[in-house]
Amino acid sequence: MSDSIDEQAKEEGRARARSTAVWDSRICDKEYWDYLMTIIPHDAIGADMTKQALYNSYGPKAWYRNEQFQCKDCGRNEVWTAEQQRWWFELAKGQINSRAIRCRACRKAWREKTGRVSHAERQKRKKDSGPG
Ligand SMILES: [Zn+2]
Repeated sequence: MSDSIDEQAKEEGRARARSTAVWDSRICDKEYWDYLMTIIPHDAIGADMTKQALYNSYGPKAWYRNEQFQCKDCGRNEVWTAEQQRWWFELAKGQINSRAIRCRACRKAWREKTGRVSHAERQKRKKDSGPG
């Protein structure tokens, strides 16, 4: 039956999501973590909590999942993908309660207007700029 195939695929997805999820005792207790692992969505990416920045935050992120949002500036419907979120929270050490608010084009325009640079750009400049 197709239903059972779906269930199997979902269970495999959940197992895959769990396999990249890493618990951090500073962020939540083990009981809660175990509970989260039972409800992890099959289409999510398990989060490595030990790599997340510690803030006084709304709650732990045990997984990332594609999130729909509407761009604040142009109103376009965009998706903040699970992979992008993982990069943001684990590599760029973004605040746990931050959310995507602008599409890529508007983000770029906004940065140019305000003179801000992206995290990645900052890292690059640091590396490139020599003394003087
Ligand atoms: Zn936009």
